[in-house]
Amino acid sequence: MSKLIFENENSTEQNKIPEELIFGKTFTTHVLEMDYDSEKGGWQDAVIKKHSNISLSPAALVFHYGQAIFEGLKAYKQVNGSISLFRPTKNLERFNRSAEKVCMPQIDINFVMEGLIELVKTDQDWIPNKPGHSLYIRPVMFATDAMLGVKPGEKYKFMILLSPVGPYYPEGFKPVPIMATKKYVRAVRGGVGDCKTAGNYAASLYAQREAKKLGFTQVLYLDALEQKYIEEVGTMNMFVQFKNEVATPRLSGTILPGITRMSVLEMLKDWGYNVSERNIELQEIFDGYKNGNLVELFGTGTAAVISSISKLKYGDAEVQFSDEHAGELGTKLYEALSDIQYGKAEDKYNWNVIVK
Ligand SMILES: *Cc1c(COP(=O)(O)O)cnc(C)c1O
Repeated sequence: MSKLIFENENSTEQNKIPEELIFGKTFTTHVLEMDYDSEKGGWQDAVIKKHSNISLSPAALVFHYGQAIFEGLKAYKQVNGSISLFRPTKNLERFNRSAEKVCMPQIDINFVMEGLIELVKTDQDWIPNKPGHSLYIRPVMFATDAMLGVKPGEKYKFMILLSPVGPYYPEGFKPVPIMATKKYVRAVRGGVGDCKTAGNYAASLYAQREAKKLGFTQVLYLDALEQKYIEEVGTMNMFVQFKNEVATPRLSGTILPGITRMSVLEMLKDWGYNVSERNIELQEIFDGYKNGNLVELFGTGTAAVISSISKLKYGDAEVQFSDEHAGELGTKLYEALSDIQYGKAEDKYNWNVIVK
């Protein structure tokens, strides 16, 4: 059984949260680190230690064959001073599903949760206490064996990094333009599109760069097979509000099962919306726009919570909503979710894990 160890240090260093937080650039004082070695019986003790550089062989498997997975979740300073995590078990369960798909070892969810809570407590002064701010939590695991050969590693490093972050859209909750394309695909059936494996993101950079050049913030991917159905937008799940239905693509194995997506689905059902997880043809969105059946488009994900969509372009076809004002349903969801996360509203779904 692994133990949790606090590495001794006699540091009196003061935490300094910069005024301007650029997403993912500032790190807290500590990390949690835990090594896996199949020759030593698997997982070793977990250590909470100073955040610093690590040393790896240039032959480490991760650099060559990409065995790396990650997660993303947040800790919030609540209005009453408590610190909470939003549905963290869901992230650790998804982490294990990602691990399984790329032949990496499973983590002990209860033990890692305990370590995560201790880490957040240790660095609690790093959680910004400002509206829209939070502490982004990044669990990551990668293969460290120094060996050139395509096979699963025998040695892994698991770490949890913490990064204070500001609001995703510092200018306020503004809608963003996206483009759909047939030129690039994100995931194919039977692949790893439903996992947070590092390689998925490397493969998405080229399309993302092209979208940026054309003035769009994200790419809306279509299914790889028929290139007919919408899948997801960058690192967000996609929602389409029609007059009598709020629809999101069903989890077909090529879509990342987002925890924000899951939460939004639960809230919408609770609010009495007619909600469906189904195949959504891109053409349905353009038809709905023409015949007045389309109400709103938005994306969901931990980083931004909700992203309202101002414009969707595909070849000559275009949907255009306000560039200035986020849609009504997206705004309502953003506020309701944030209110739960910051403890401004009752946590009626029991989503928050209170750290202290
Ligand atoms: C992380 C991620 C999401 C959103 O998932 P959340 O759990 O809501 O943060 C959606 N799509 C992709 C590709 C992702 O990597």
